[in-house]
Amino acid sequence: MVNKAVKQNSKARTIGFKTGERNIFFHILTACNLSCKHCYINPNQHGNNSLNKETIFRWLDLFIDDHKKSNLILLGGEPTLHPDLAEVIAYSKKKGFAVTVDSNGYLHHNLLERTSPDQLDYLSFSLDGPNAEINDAIRGDNVFSTCTENIRKAVARGFNVSLIYTVSGWNIDYLKDMMPLLQELKVKRFFIQVIGLRGESAKVEDDGFQVTKERWLEVVPLVAEQAAEVGIHVTFPKVFLEEEETFECAANVAENYFIFPNGRVYQCPLCEDHPIHSFEIVDNQLQSCNGLRETNFFNLEIAEGCVMNKLLQPENISYKNGKVENRISCCMLKQEII
Ligand code: SF4
Ligand code: SF4
Repeated sequence: MVNKAVKQNSKARTIGFKTGERNIFFHILTACNLSCKHCYINPNQHGNNSLNKETIFRWLDLFIDDHKKSNLILLGGEPTLHPDLAEVIAYSKKKGFAVTVDSNGYLHHNLLERTSPDQLDYLSFSLDGPNAEINDAIRGDNVFSTCTENIRKAVARGFNVSLIYTVSGWNIDYLKDMMPLLQELKVKRFFIQVIGLRGESAKVEDDGFQVTKERWLEVVPLVAEQAAEVGIHVTFPKVFLEEEETFECAANVAENYFIFPNGRVYQCPLCEDHPIHSFEIVDNQLQSCNGLRETNFFNLEIAEGCVMNKLLQPENISYKNGKVENRISCCMLKQEII
């Protein structure tokens, strides 16, 4: 095991929460053609309906704010399964959103032919391994070949392509092998994520599935640096705060909305498996919810940092002589190397 004093990468810059900027993660459906082993979608909590085009437009209208930069991430499930996704992209762009689509790589309904790089700011693909052997063991047979083929097509058509790699104990050893692939595919942005404990991930019983602090700090910052050196913009979660760093809860200092097709709207992604959402969309109106809600937790100050992490993932925190050894940052806090 690596020394606990491993420091985070000095070349990485922490991206502070930006006031006046909003991120809207809109799950327009929860259906998917894949069954990834770590899928965080939980139909019991998120619904299993697909919103029709008109409803999506009305719900998007609720989040228009001409005074703020609003980043819209359209996702699912697999959002390209929605037959009207291209129209949703066009509508969103017209209303001033910076639009990203997060796809598993299948690009159903000929998405590339039905939208354009002028309308879609980023097309983001998910891969969890540098080859079929590693990726498909997590995401399913033939996913690697389909996804990489469609990345090539998207790049050839002039789309900005980003790639998301969800790090778990199953694939952290192969993260370093992503570099040649990212370069060959001409990926512009590389998002490294950490596996959560939500949805299917929470059911995995393999002890080696979660990543230890030591392994994370040993691998991820170095790989991020290597990707940056070849010109790829890399973003990865902060996860652990250094002693001198201040803890901030994104829900208190930034605007993030996670919208699900059953109408629930959360401000914190860690809360998404529980009926404690801040808002609900009812009859196309955004309403605050009463009772015990995620908002009741955001102002609690604890030595461990993030309250929801302490409640839901306490095994991430270690103590020595009764004192917290590693404060956990907000899961929305990122680092980047450009
Ligand atoms: S992780 Fe994404 S691509 Fe995989 S099954 Fe879940 S929704 Fe589908
Ligand atoms: S992850 Fe923790 S710190 Fe971040 S929004 Fe949720 S409760 Fe707040």
